[in-house]
Amino acid sequence: VEETLVLVKPDGVARNLTGEILRRIEAKGYQLVDIKLVEPDRELLAQHYEEHQGKPFYEPLVEFMESGPIVALRIAGNRVIEGFRSLAGTTDPTTAAPGTIRGDLARDWGLAVQQNLVHGSDSPESAERELALWFD
Ligand code: ATP
Repeated sequence: VEETLVLVKPDGVARNLTGEILRRIEAKGYQLVDIKLVEPDRELLAQHYEEHQGKPFYEPLVEFMESGPIVALRIAGNRVIEGFRSLAGTTDPTTAAPGTIRGDLARDWGLAVQQNLVHGSDSPESAERELALWFD
């Protein structure tokens, strides 16, 4: 069965939305396999976001991800990678569809980085790579 990495980003943990986000994942029928609270160092974040290095939002993104604890979730289910991204909604909180995690719960703070509550792996390759980074 497929697995994905979901992160409840610092804004989600700080706003006490971890339970609500996990509730939506479980209600959809996906299985929680592992969970932990993490305060990632720069090295981990640099590896996690290596594809964004050099982009204008990279530094603010890493600073945001260091700003407080993150909850890492290992989630399993049929087509869960695609399914979680559908649950999460699009990157921009303003235009994310109502009914999605970001559409219902994330706000646009007008900052350099989209504080959009969650991360989900975007392909089987990134899921394998990211699960190894955060859980092994
Ligand atoms: P999605 O692709 O659905 O947004 P993601 O979280 O994997 O999921 P990425 O494109 O990988 O999104 O970008 C990583 C994160 O960087 C985003 O979630 C967001 O927090 C931030 N980000 C991405 N693009 C921008 C942007 N243009 N301006 C500000 N922040 C951004």
